[in-house]
This record gives sequence, structure tokens and C-alpha cells, in this order.
Amino acid sequence: MENSEKKSTNFIHEIIEKDLAAGKYQKRVHTRFPPEPNGYLHIGHAKAITIDFATAEKYQGLYNLRFDDTNPVKEDTEYVDSIMEDIKWLGFDWKERLFYASDYFEKMYNYAVELIEKGLAYVDDLTAEEMREYRGTLTEPGKNSPYRDRSVEENKKLFAEMREGKYEDGSKIVRAKIDMASPNLTMRDPALYRIAHFNHHRTGDSWCIYPMYDFAHPLEDAIEGITHSLCTLEFESHRPLYNWVLANLNDFQVDAPKQIEFARLEITRTVMSKRKLKLLVDEGIVSGWDDPRMPTLSGMRRRGFTPESIKNFCEMVGVAKSNSMVDSAMLEHAIRDDLKLKAPRLMAVLNPLKVVVTNWPKGEVEMLDVPLNQEVPEMGSRQIPFNGEVYVERDDFMEEPVKKFYRLFPGNEVRLRGAYFVKCNEIIKDEAGEVIELRCTYDPETKSGSGFTGRKVRGTLHWVPANHSVKTQVRLYDYLLLDEEEQTSKDFLENINPNSIETIDAWVEPELAKAKSLEKFQFIRHGYFSVDPKDSTDEAPVFNRVVSLKSSWKKKK
Ligand code: ATP
Ligand code: MG
Repeated sequence: MENSEKKSTNFIHEIIEKDLAAGKYQKRVHTRFPPEPNGYLHIGHAKAITIDFATAEKYQGLYNLRFDDTNPVKEDTEYVDSIMEDIKWLGFDWKERLFYASDYFEKMYNYAVELIEKGLAYVDDLTAEEMREYRGTLTEPGKNSPYRDRSVEENKKLFAEMREGKYEDGSKIVRAKIDMASPNLTMRDPALYRIAHFNHHRTGDSWCIYPMYDFAHPLEDAIEGITHSLCTLEFESHRPLYNWVLANLNDFQVDAPKQIEFARLEITRTVMSKRKLKLLVDEGIVSGWDDPRMPTLSGMRRRGFTPESIKNFCEMVGVAKSNSMVDSAMLEHAIRDDLKLKAPRLMAVLNPLKVVVTNWPKGEVEMLDVPLNQEVPEMGSRQIPFNGEVYVERDDFMEEPVKKFYRLFPGNEVRLRGAYFVKCNEIIKDEAGEVIELRCTYDPETKSGSGFTGRKVRGTLHWVPANHSVKTQVRLYDYLLLDEEEQTSKDFLENINPNSIETIDAWVEPELAKAKSLEKFQFIRHGYFSVDPKDSTDEAPVFNRVVSLKSSWKKKK
């Protein structure tokens, strides 16, 4: 991998390199990304995917995609499909290594039986509430359950009956027998198996008991031969349990996988929890998981983000051992940076004011040849018809100019980008006194690209031909959240920005009428835009603004 060379090294790489040097895991590196199929992937997941998969690539290792489908209540095949689509879009290929935790249910059951046989697990009849009471607190030890000393035989029989469906949800649970006085609450006889009479999206009604995450996850990793199990920091206190499970099973005495935690990605003014994102969808606050305002990968793709920009962003954020909040401006920088030389630069007028060039020969149409991106001459040029009647941006005109206003005002001369200098001579107003048209004259000597050096003007305006421009819909976005942080004292739904979308008409140059789904452009002065794949038609593209042109964030050198 050529891009492995440029990747900075981090504490995960250091651990792996130590293991490789010591000859651990037969010098293999094998990682996995284990999404729970209960929602669409968001940009936080992209960070996890990049870390999991790019780390494996860096060491010529392997990576698995594994659906952690051990919680049938909220899972759905719609989510499974979207997750695969999004990861492929990011540019990762897990090849044949696609797995489902549910494929290991039989094995997991047997491992639980092994723990029971070793006297390391038991069936408990305490209610959930009683279990909470017995659990103790951070400062006080817990108490042993009265069921803790059931015989191995009784535990085996009860567990088998749980599987057969003899008991109701919540009436019994299998717990590890560890230490009710452990300072780590996770180690106080954690639950391994629960009863849940649910239809599973893959195993149907075959099971009515399901393994708990803390028991299932180390098993999934170990069964697949994972070497380094990378996850987010909230699992740090679960690591002793991860190790306990594997240490007590005969199959995993050699080269048990190693859990390593890294900081979660959090971005200012960005919702980063599947539960909350689902709420936005269910409440109809957004149009769906792929609403262009959503930080989901499907939303960002639709908005116009590129996989490269997302991967570069994750790279810039880096891998840390403590949580921190990343400025959303950094993500915007990443997409600008990616599109800067990739996107052609065209003209669109969002709020038009008509300009008529009075000395333009009547009826004459000149085809102007204008470069698509001045910084990238290889991109070529497009033609714009010019017939002396154009639209400019309404706020590029001021009847009484303020200081340092160099655009159009009575008596001032400006350049129409790619065309000629024009000078404003007359203002036409309607009955209400609103300016509806400007009368200008042009100077034939000043054609763009002609090498004219006679005089200079300070303002250059973008414009579209009045008769040959195309009216299209443009959507401008703002953040979904009002406050900087997702965790504010306000109720989550009260923190939603009511003005996160603005839909307006825009007049674009003819070239843009042909734009294809997801094609990206810079609209000069307005930002980067991408063609909405859902709402556009062949005749009428709808443009999503990916990001404006101005950035408040500077990359540290
Ligand atoms: P959420 O909290 O948004 O519901 P989750 O952690 O429950 O997400 P999973 O499907 O369990 O979602 O996540 C799969 C993997 O993605 C996990 O290893 C998890 O640690 C990682 N992950 C989830 N959110 C983030 C994030 N914001 N930053 C980095 N990694 C994340
Ligand atoms: Mg989770």
C-alpha cells in the first residue's frame, strides 16, 4: 500500500509493532469492524473503520467486516445493506471476510456451558431490580446472589431449559462467577446470557436466549482469529472481562486477541449517536437517514462529501487515548481541500439582478470560452453565450456604495468574469422604488484573455446570461444543532436548529443544466455544490451546497 508509508505512527501502531517484533500471533495482524446493524453508519464509524482497516493494510494484514447482531430487538437487514454500501463507498474491501456474530450462537452457547462446567458461571433468578441492589456501588462492594452457589448440574439443566424456551424474558440470566467485591463494577458477576423471545433478522426463532455484548465480543474476535481488537474508550473498563472470558476457555489459551481502545470522534454541532439520529428520522425532523444534513455516511455522500475528504479528515484527527471535541470547521476544510482542484468552477446567481449592456450589438451572441478551473488548465474550458443581457448577484450592486465596495454602483466599472469590463450608467426602478435593472456600457477592448492592460478594475463579478441561464433549485445547509456541543443542558430536540435548510432558486450557466447525479462544482463565490441524487431529474438538477468557500479553520503546519 503506497499510502501506508505516509501514515503517521500512533500508539496502536506502536503496540502492533512490538507484537510483530516479539513474534506474537505468528506475526499476523488481523482487525475487524464490528457494527451493530441497528442504524446507519455515521462519521464516527468512519473513523473506527479507517483505524481498523487502514491499520491492517499498513501491516499487510487482514480485516473482517462483522455484524454484531446479538441484540435482535433493534436490528434490521436495511441497516446491514446500508452499512456494506457505505464501507465500500469509503473504499475498503473486506473481500470474502464478511461475518455475522449470529453465526456463532451455537459455539457461544457451548462456551457458556464450558464456563458453567468449570464452576465459572451460574444461572441467576434475581430480578433486574434485585440485581441492581446486590451490585453495590463504586464505593461499596456488592453482595453475592443467593443463587450463586447452585451446583454445576443444576446450572446446566437450567441453562438448557432457558434455551428450550421454558422461561420468560427476564426471569433468569446466566452470569459469570467472578467477584462481587471487585472495584471494577463490570467484573461483579456480569451477565453472559439473557432470555429474549424475539425474531432475529437472520436466525429467526431458533433462539430465545442471546449472549450479552461483553461475553459475545471477545468470542467473536477469538473465533475469527483477530489479533488486535480496536474499539472506543468506553470499553476500557470492560477489557478485564474481555480477557477473563478468553482466559477461561480452553480454545483460546494461545494468542488470544488483544483489546485496544482509542478516543471516540466527536464534532462540534454534530449529532453523533445512532439513537439520536434515529430519533431525528422517526420524528420527521430530517427526511431520512440520508438527509444531506445528517452526519451519516449516506447523508454526507448525498450532500456531496467525497470518500477521500472523509478519510483525510479522519487522518487529520488522528488516534488519541483521550476524548476530545473536533471543530466541524476541520471537516469542512477537508472537503474544500479535496474539491479545490477536482471541481470545475462555474457561475451561478442566487439572487439575480438584470444588467443590460446598452452598446452591445443587438441580436449578437458571442460564445465566450472560459477555463473550467484556472488552477487546472488541463480541465479545459466551457462556452458561455454572451448577448449583452446578464444576471448578476443583487448584492453585488449598491446604489450608494459603502467604503471599500468595489463592485457595481453608479459610475463604476467592473469586470464580468470571463467577458468584458462594464460600467454602470443608469438604474431602473419599479414603482415601489426597487432596483430592477442596471443599464451599463461595455468596452470591446477589455475582453477577458485578450491581454488588455489599458486600465484596471477592482471588482470582478460572476454572472449568468439572462436568456440562456437555467433556473434550478439550490439547497443551502446549516448545522443541525444550535449549540456547539451535542451534550448541552438542553433537551436534545430543543437544541435542533430550525433553520438548517434553505431552498432557493438559482440561475446557473447552461453547462450546469447537464450536471449528473453527485457531480461536484464550485459555484464561484458561493461554495462547493453537488447534484442531489434523489431529487434531480435529467432536465433539472437540484444542487446541494456541500460547503461554503470561507473557512474559519486553519490546518496547523
Ligand atoms: P452509537 O454510540 O452512535 O450508537 P455504537 O458504538 O453503538 O454507536 P456500533 O455499531 O456498536 O455503534 O459501532 C461499531 C464500532 O464503531 C465500534 O467499535 C465503536 O467503538 C465504533 N464507533 C462508534 N461511534 C464512534 C465514534 N463516534 N468515534 C469512533 N468510533 C466509533
Ligand atoms: Mg454499540
